[in-house]
This record gives sequence, C-alpha cells and structure tokens, in this order.
Amino acid sequence: MQLIREDLAELSRVKWLCTESTNVYVLRLDQIHPLISGNKWYKLRYYLEAAKASGQKVITFGGAYSNHILATAAACKLYGLSCAGIIRGEEPEQYAPTLTDAVSQGMELHFVSRTAYKEHQIPQPLAGENTYVVPEGGYGFTGLLGAATIPYLPGVFDTVCCAAGTGTMMAGLLHSAPADTTIAGFSVLKNHKSLTAEIETLLQRPLPENSFINNDFHFGGYAKYTEELIHFMNELYKVTGIPTDFVYTAKLFYGVKALLDSAFKTSRNLLIIHSGGLQGNRSLPKGTLIF
Ligand SMILES: *Cc1c(COP(=O)(O)O)cnc(C)c1O
Repeated sequence: MQLIREDLAELSRVKWLCTESTNVYVLRLDQIHPLISGNKWYKLRYYLEAAKASGQKVITFGGAYSNHILATAAACKLYGLSCAGIIRGEEPEQYAPTLTDAVSQGMELHFVSRTAYKEHQIPQPLAGENTYVVPEGGYGFTGLLGAATIPYLPGVFDTVCCAAGTGTMMAGLLHSAPADTTIAGFSVLKNHKSLTAEIETLLQRPLPENSFINNDFHFGGYAKYTEELIHFMNELYKVTGIPTDFVYTAKLFYGVKALLDSAFKTSRNLLIIHSGGLQGNRSLPKGTLIF
C-alpha cells in the first residue's frame, strides 16, 4: 500500500550554490507530505508496518515541537493505527501548533517529567496496554533500514550531504550508498561527541574513511539560531525558492555552502537531502521568515 507520494520529491540543480568545480543539487523530501516531514516518513515506515502487522498501538517520544511526533501522528492516521505520544515536560495550558496538529490527527498525548522522559518511562495507563514502541526520532536499525530507502539515486552523486540529529538518516544513507560515495552529515547538536559511535553502532561497521560528520554549524546547539542563520534562510528562499527549517536543514545548507571551496572542492556532483521539518518554523516569532 503506497500512502505517501514519494514521487513528489523534486530533484533539482541549485544554481546559486554551484561553483566552477561542483554542481549542487537538492532532493526535496519536504514535498512528500505536508505533515509527515521528509526523512521522518522513511525512518518510520518499517516500524509502522510492524505495528500494523501485530495490531498494536504505536507509542513514541518527543518534545512539544517535534517533527517526529507530528509525523508519527499523521502516518498512524494514514495507516489506521492508534497511537500515543509521550511528551517531555508539563502539559502546557495552550498547546503549541505541533501538538494541536498531532491531536487532530488522532494522537493521544501523555505529558511526563523530564526525569521520567530521560528514562523512557512509559506512563500509566499506557504501560498496561499492548503497545509497539517506536524509539525517539525513529532511531534504531529499523529506522536505518527505512532511511536506506530514501530515493537519492545511489551512485549518481559522488557526495551526499544531510543534517544529523540521532544520525539514523545518515546511517541509512551509508547503508545504501556505494563505497565510493562520500556521505557528509552536519550535526545540529552542540558537543554531540558520541554521534559517530552511535552511527557506527547502527551501521555495525566503522564510518568509511571518505565520509564524515561536521560539527561546526550547530549555531549554538539544538533548535538554537542566530540572526545570521535567519538571514541566510531568507536569502536562500529569495534566490532559489527553497524553504528551510531553522533546526536542521538551514544549518545543513549553510554548512554545505561554507565548505564548497574546502571540504567539497573535489566533489563534482553534490546532493543535499532536504529532510523537511518546515512545520517547526512555527515556533519562531511571527515575521522572522519571509516564507
Ligand atoms: C529529525 C530530522 C533530522 C535528523 O534525522 P536523524 O535521523 O535523527 O539524524 C533531519 N532533518 C529533519 C528535518 C528532521 O526532522
């Protein structure tokens, strides 16, 4: 059953980023579904298939602005699965748009303390139900196998760049890529020193020598941003028509652009994976972005 229009993801050349030595392309996974954001669909697909086969209720974890929570809610609705989200922190008086949308997709929400969240505790009454647990962010080997189906035409590009949170998407790309393809991940967390090790655990082999994780473009840390980043997002949109999100893809595009004359100088055809996440921009003050 094909429920998501993967064929809607446009692949195009980004003239503004191309240099004399490098052609830069983008794969617009943000276009496959308005709520099931880009890479989250790929990471979820096999988890949801398993839950569907076993007839269990899906439960997963996330914060109040989580792309993963909303994607899970919307994908479960498409699959006819019931689902619950375990949300970090106290229940707010007024829900942020992400949570409002998740509820309108049929997700039941449970708010837990930060400590309980950290320990991945499953609150009552959920703990007594027959549930299928999807790890936070879709992390895990099942998520990797799903991410390995991201349709980026393995072998066509010598370099493929993506944003990295848990690193599951990057691990999936490494899993499906030919050995001579460079996979470059841009970490959006500050001091996430264990990221390489986490990716290697998922992959069950060391990171190949030609692939790497860059830690220089986190802009202060997870979901942090600067005026410079916002300016870049508006500029990128104005010139290319590509909208980005401030948590992941803007940092990725910024990092790629900054490295075109150094780390990527020898790349001839470089692909940027636009992994979606645009709904998260709703947490920015109104008027911050021109799109
Ligand atoms: C979750 C997310 C990522 C990070 O994916 P990981 O597999 O956790 O590294 C990247 N981009 C967007 C838009 C996301 O929502």
